[in-house]
Amino acid sequence: MKAVLYKEPFSVAVEEVPRPKIEHPNDVIVKVTSTAICGSDLHMYEGRTAAQPGIVFGHENMGTIEEVGPGVTGLKAGDRVVMPFNVACGFCKNCLAGNTGFCLTVNPGFAGGAYGYVNMGPYTGGQAEYLRVPFADFNCLPLPAESERDKDYVLLADIFPTGYHGCELAQVSPGDTCAVYGAGPVGLMAAYSALLRGAARVFVVDRIPERLSKAEEIGAVPIDFSKGDPVEQIKDQTDGEGTDKGVDAVGYQAHTSDASKEEPATVLNSLIQTVRPTGRLGVPGLYVPSDPGGPDPNAQHGMLLVAIGKMFEKGQVVGTGQCNVKQYNRKLRDLITAGRAKPSFVVSHELPLDDAPDAYNKFDKRIEGYTKVILHP
Ligand code: NAD
Ligand code: ZN
Repeated sequence: MKAVLYKEPFSVAVEEVPRPKIEHPNDVIVKVTSTAICGSDLHMYEGRTAAQPGIVFGHENMGTIEEVGPGVTGLKAGDRVVMPFNVACGFCKNCLAGNTGFCLTVNPGFAGGAYGYVNMGPYTGGQAEYLRVPFADFNCLPLPAESERDKDYVLLADIFPTGYHGCELAQVSPGDTCAVYGAGPVGLMAAYSALLRGAARVFVVDRIPERLSKAEEIGAVPIDFSKGDPVEQIKDQTDGEGTDKGVDAVGYQAHTSDASKEEPATVLNSLIQTVRPTGRLGVPGLYVPSDPGGPDPNAQHGMLLVAIGKMFEKGQVVGTGQCNVKQYNRKLRDLITAGRAKPSFVVSHELPLDDAPDAYNKFDKRIEGYTKVILHP
């Protein structure tokens, strides 16, 4: 079958690989119909991680069940399903508590499993024609038969629940003001979720015009950080007080107002300044170790200079981590089905799998309006 393989930094290729087989009675094989490219794939694509050449990318997958293992009870061939990016067992201590992003079974010694992701277990990615799904009864979310909302449903694999999770970590509530740093797919989904949850005003910070327009389209206030300090811009619009809540949907790859420069802790420190005393921060943005497995423990643990003194002074609370997709995907699916949520406004491109190399290049450079790409194998 065809699959998207990582070759070397800034290069993927579509090549033939063996088709996955049922390896365990609880597996299913899914024929992939939609699979999205994620900002998290870009960390590997840019060579910032220990991902090895040959890994098949793709953790945002939906499709039709092709083959069912003998231990699977709730699914049958032909069912339409979307899979959380997390691979989880459903019965460990963390899964039982709903923390399926931190499953203790699927990837021992590390926090949680995922398809096609470095350090996240042996699970091959779904930017391919077929995907093996372990613990399938737990990891497949059934979808309605009609397909007109497929570009909304595929976003249930990751970015819609992840944006929602950012708001849950920050406890965004009706009437709140909320600042979201990053108008990438995750930031836009966080802003959209904050509005769904009843936030009164949502500020979205970025510098890419197409992305800021999408924020404005859904009723958020766009803040262009290339035009001045975003903290000041937001304080000016909140009577100098700052916002009640804040979400970091950028992570360590934060740019400074000088577009060519990166400064890893910029966003977290800006968020601490932006949110009012005793406000809450949600951090779905990824802070990957700069040298995983390397000799320097600081680089191994993604250590950064964060203004903890300021946080303490302001009595802020912060939540971090992988999204536990399974906690939210059923409810968010039902909002989509009922026509109450339409997250696909973020989707800029739907392309055949063969176009993956060009799509990765443009999404990585954030050019030509590439905001969110769905590939159709
Ligand atoms: P993305 O890279 O497309 O979006 C990031 C956006 O941040 C870009 O639009 C960029 O212009 C903007 N940005 C850069 N520096 C900034 C700054 N200083 N201030 C404000 N905006 C700035 O990626 P994405 O797909 O939206 O993902 C965002 C982050 O979320 C990534 O780190 C990704 O790995 C992470 N992520 C986490 C989870 C999870 O489960 N926690 C899931 C998916 C993605
Ligand atoms: Zn993703």
